[in-house]
Amino acid sequence: MSVARLGAFTAPDLPSLEGIRACVHCGICLPQCPTYRVLGEEMDSPRGRIYLMRAAAEERLEPTEAFARHMDLCLGCRACESACPAGVPFGALLEATRFQLARRGLSSEPRLLTRLIFAVFPHPGRMGLLLGALRLYQRSGLQRLVRASGLLRLAPRLAAMEALLPLVPPREPLPELIPARGGRRGRLGLLTGCVQRHLYPQVNRDTARLLSLAGWDVIVPREQGCCGALDLHGGRLGAFRRRARALAAQFAGDLDYVVTSAAGCGSAMKEYGHWLPEAAEVGALARRVRDVSQVLVDADLPLGRLETSVTYHDACHLAHGQKLRNEPRALLARVPGLRLVPLADSELCCGSAGVYNLVEPEMAERLLDMKISRILATGARVVAAANPGCLLQIAKGCRARGLDIEVVHPVELVARALPA
Ligand code: SF4
Ligand code: SF4
Repeated sequence: MSVARLGAFTAPDLPSLEGIRACVHCGICLPQCPTYRVLGEEMDSPRGRIYLMRAAAEERLEPTEAFARHMDLCLGCRACESACPAGVPFGALLEATRFQLARRGLSSEPRLLTRLIFAVFPHPGRMGLLLGALRLYQRSGLQRLVRASGLLRLAPRLAAMEALLPLVPPREPLPELIPARGGRRGRLGLLTGCVQRHLYPQVNRDTARLLSLAGWDVIVPREQGCCGALDLHGGRLGAFRRRARALAAQFAGDLDYVVTSAAGCGSAMKEYGHWLPEAAEVGALARRVRDVSQVLVDADLPLGRLETSVTYHDACHLAHGQKLRNEPRALLARVPGLRLVPLADSELCCGSAGVYNLVEPEMAERLLDMKISRILATGARVVAAANPGCLLQIAKGCRARGLDIEVVHPVELVARALPA
């Protein structure tokens, strides 16, 4: 029998009481939590947030704006989940709690901005139109004028968005089929990602090229939509499920794997089965999802030398969401001449966290400061990160500080080592 209520929460999509009660309050997760490290506040730590969820689930507390504030300030990075010896599923608890809060209209985030973001970002077509306009803004000289006028200081959130934007590249859609070269291993689907296809088309191009050289036919469904990652992290579970079902239909063909090089997308897709247990086709897609590093790590690739020092930042949704730490490093280490320099706190969130850096720019900036100082300490001239959000955020930090550091996806470095 399904439970209709859990204290202050109502069905569907109740946070798991079992998951909440698994927390033994040991505090091992606290030093790994970015918001706790910055603020030192118990209620902005994983343990504090779980305490709030439990109090609401046991009807000892009615969720308020202050309750929602502690949940909104969470990055959803899941570093606490990796650290937790008791197996508390913090990511799923947070997503369900956010869903419950959103139904009550409780949020500390700027509503208009959030509405605008969700009206554009998960829609690849609208995203393309917006970025086309922003490309004009950059190339016409208007960007220089706006920046010089100081107008952006009047709207700090708009300024944060503007500063994040790299030079928007021209559109570069991939063909629908990139045939395997060399010994054929099978067929893959490639998810191109809403942000990645427009801002980092070279990452998708290099991913497809490497996969094809490794013997895979790469299928790129033209009409593919959004994986729903942003909706999931924001607790918009209805929209998330609709997008998951649509994506499963677009990748329904005879494919060995569905590959992505965007960590946030891969993490959300691997969790489809948890949120849609009754939808067999969605579960089947989830089981076939692979990060590109998983497929390429042992592939036969004709790699030449690339003399460079690189440090690697662990994207939260690759390290904590997908538990992939060794594969991307091992892939980079295969490139002859490439020197991998360890990065202190490599798993500390850079502050990007989906749209977090747009809606919580102050905390995001403080985390970015910590990340950049650790990158500088490595002395490396190149930073690799496997998620478009991290690439945008770290590149923005480097630009703002006038640093000559290149920020790239690991597949870009591997592709540079291929013969011309
Ligand atoms: S998800 Fe990240 S920010 Fe949120 S409580 Fe866990 S470690 Fe802290
Ligand atoms: S490490 Fe796990 S059990 Fe310990 S306080 Fe954090 S969430 Fe609770």
